[in-house]
Amino acid sequence: MAKRDYYEVLGVEKSATADEIKKAYRKLSKKYHPDINKEAGADEKFKEISEAYEVLSDEQKRAQYDQYGHVDPNQGFGGGTGGFSGGGFSGFEDIFDTFFGGGGSSRRDPNAPRQGNDLQYTMRLKFKEAIFGKEAEIEIPREENCDTCHGSGAKPGTHPEKCSHCGGKGTINVEQNTPFGRIVNKQTCQYCHGTGKEIKEKCSTCNGSGRVTKKKRIKLKVPAGVNDGQQMRVAGEGEAGINGGPNGDLYVVFVVIPDEFFEREGDDIFVEVPLTFVQAALGDEIDVPTVHGKVRLKIPAGTQTGTTFRLRGKGVPHLRGNGTGDQHVDVKVIVPKRLDDKQKELLRDFAKTTGDHVDEQTSGFFDKMKKAFKGE
Ligand SMILES: [Zn+2]
Ligand SMILES: [Zn+2]
Repeated sequence: MAKRDYYEVLGVEKSATADEIKKAYRKLSKKYHPDINKEAGADEKFKEISEAYEVLSDEQKRAQYDQYGHVDPNQGFGGGTGGFSGGGFSGFEDIFDTFFGGGGSSRRDPNAPRQGNDLQYTMRLKFKEAIFGKEAEIEIPREENCDTCHGSGAKPGTHPEKCSHCGGKGTINVEQNTPFGRIVNKQTCQYCHGTGKEIKEKCSTCNGSGRVTKKKRIKLKVPAGVNDGQQMRVAGEGEAGINGGPNGDLYVVFVVIPDEFFEREGDDIFVEVPLTFVQAALGDEIDVPTVHGKVRLKIPAGTQTGTTFRLRGKGVPHLRGNGTGDQHVDVKVIVPKRLDDKQKELLRDFAKTTGDHVDEQTSGFFDKMKKAFKGE
């Protein structure tokens, strides 16, 4: 099923500001939130809205989307689940805070293990690198647990203590006078953000957050046969999990630089090769470049311009499964532009022997053309 345009999903212009996108998302997700809207299809709609927001709210992902459109997760490989899932889904919590600000039951436990955010990295590949694959080392900045405090945020030798403001519950009761009487509202403790913990002496490395941003070098093997826009999932190389949750994943998106000579369509390669009209008329053997090296190609006598020859197995190795695509050689017969007197003489002599005769293959065309002139 074709995906709808993300801007269309959110009902905003392509030029929408981050603020406009956020507003549109809040409005729509409120309308279709599965806890609120019980209509059939609301769930799907909500997912679609969330996915669109996830991409358009992220500057990098939005730029990627504007340039390449939907990255089809089915075109990805290396892992079962494509696309962006898991921890990168930050908009959801946002909305929960808005709806259920005082609530409690639907709130996510801030101490529960959570998967780290997924990361995305764009890798530029030369034409042949995409075809044959390569070993690469990339450097990505990512959030990891602090080594000094092992993620607790507390100075080594100390431990996080019970939050003194909420007694470790993570919530405080707030009494409110309303037209309906006095009600007690449970609210997230502002001091510990619902964790119930308080760090008296902060770890100096991470300043109490338990997290640090590090540049991480990762070795990757780009498989042979990847194509422009495809992505590879590198499991567990995203940001570190929170509260002991699993790490996020890293998605490497490939951008393939076009070649001057070879053109690629799927796993087939197309080239255009010039022939002199003498070669085309008399036949010849020529060398044709392929990404796998030179290949000898027999040109039969009487080859017409635009004829395509297929070199089997001289294309791109299939990413999945065995085998290799083909190379298609499109020949173009070149009529000489400059002739010396002797050559002109020879061609005139040649013309005398043929008159306006053309061979059987093309004569049908000339007959039709003559009839067209006469208006038959
Ligand atoms: Zn630390
Ligand atoms: Zn507290």
